[in-house]
Amino acid sequence: MKRTEIKAVLQQGDVGTRVKVMGWVRTKRIGKNVAFIAMNDGSTIKNVQVVVDTTGDFVKLLENVHTGAALSVEGNLVESLGSGQKVEIHAEKIDLLGKADPNEYPLQPKKHSLEFLREKAHLRFRTNTFSAIARIRHAMIFAVHKFFNDKGFYNIHTPIITGSDAEGAGEMFQVTTLDLSNPPKDDEGNLNFKEDFFGKASNLTVSGQLEAELAALALGKVYTFGPTFRAENSNTTRHLAEFWMIEPEMAFSDINDDMDLAEEMLKYVIRYALDNCMDDLEFLSKRQQDEEKNKKADERSMELIEKLNFVLENPFARITYTEAIHILRNSKPNKKKRFQFVIEGWGADLQSEHERYLVEKHFKTPVILTDYPKDIKAFYMKQNDDGKTVRAMDVLFPQIGEIIGGSQREEDYNKLYTRMNEMHIPEESMWWYLETRKFGSVPHAGFGLGFERLILFLTGMGNIRDVIPFPRTPQNLEF
Ligand code: ATP
Ligand code: MN
Repeated sequence: MKRTEIKAVLQQGDVGTRVKVMGWVRTKRIGKNVAFIAMNDGSTIKNVQVVVDTTGDFVKLLENVHTGAALSVEGNLVESLGSGQKVEIHAEKIDLLGKADPNEYPLQPKKHSLEFLREKAHLRFRTNTFSAIARIRHAMIFAVHKFFNDKGFYNIHTPIITGSDAEGAGEMFQVTTLDLSNPPKDDEGNLNFKEDFFGKASNLTVSGQLEAELAALALGKVYTFGPTFRAENSNTTRHLAEFWMIEPEMAFSDINDDMDLAEEMLKYVIRYALDNCMDDLEFLSKRQQDEEKNKKADERSMELIEKLNFVLENPFARITYTEAIHILRNSKPNKKKRFQFVIEGWGADLQSEHERYLVEKHFKTPVILTDYPKDIKAFYMKQNDDGKTVRAMDVLFPQIGEIIGGSQREEDYNKLYTRMNEMHIPEESMWWYLETRKFGSVPHAGFGLGFERLILFLTGMGNIRDVIPFPRTPQNLEF
């Protein structure tokens, strides 16, 4: 008999039909004449209940059925009274596909801490929390591609290994095949990268933007969706050493088009999650409320689904950095020195505590901040006429802080060239980027959305290590 996925059984299964399901045991409960096995196969967060007679042949087999074991079960669908589902399976044939020794299997049917589960990353997919996150992650990958495809953007694969170390977005990981125990040296005693694989120093990319710009200046609208790497030794709940970034880039566009695209995209994918991931979102909502039940009422998060709808229904506030500094300087936590970094004046880089204050306390809606001081932003951002600010735009979200960083790009050759010199960015490694400003240069803009930050927001999880299957962080490379 052909296998049916549990999702289909629960949604479409009719009482009286015979089915075969395969999955992993979540719980087993022995009753008087029957045993109840809750089985999950990953197709949905919901388990199917299997009812087994304990009076006959199954007695011996049931002794080996424990949480984590894999089963194949054939039987008739019967109406379910107690399981919370429409139907359950009355087992007639059970095969034990894979045992799980209860003395060794680490995931028992009780609450495990997220810290514990991080150490069991090879098994944590089997929990409700992590399978829900994995399904939502998938849905969001799909939604991102659908959004851009439907709008006529082309997906571009940008390189993961890069020869330029000048992108300025963060510390880079070096890539080398040199023998580090006996590296070749040049005449001055420095490492001789001429003998390295590429004949020059190479790194893992921190962003696909620069290459995406090249493509946008021919194809019009493009986006990348790839892994990016930053050797930041910061160990926060919002930073990974390896994360996924979505980077659209549009020719013939300015910072306002960029903000519109960012807001439209975020709302589109959130709507997609609400339309397609409700079972998982409801589970994560309950989970978060459970987690926060000991907190004071005003410290609790907004209910997850309400929070997602709230973002959908309200326009994002759009203000300049200068206005934000004004608000922050006059804010209570700044005056009472409750911020870890007190804002002294114009020019300060904003920390996530400031970003969250603006979003959560002041505007109570996502905020797009624009026109940052040029000294705290990258060399490629379009310079404003005031000589002090650039056309940057960062999208700030509740609970997350910065979720998107973007800008209109400097399209003027001379201005870009001068700024690169000021910021000591070697022309030799960036000549190709500069050339695009010589040949048919046009206004263009784009942004980077950190995919895991989006998933943090959608799932209400508190730590970025829990929204990517195998997190890469300092001192952590187990799986
Ligand atoms: P932050 O100030 O939060 O470190 P950033 O200014 O370095 O961010 P950008 O260089 O603008 O970030 O990168 C674009 C987006 O990529 C950010 O808005 C964020 O969503 C995401 N991002 C940046 N660094 C990380 C990281 N280490 N781990 C996960 N996501 C990141
Ligand atoms: Mn950073």
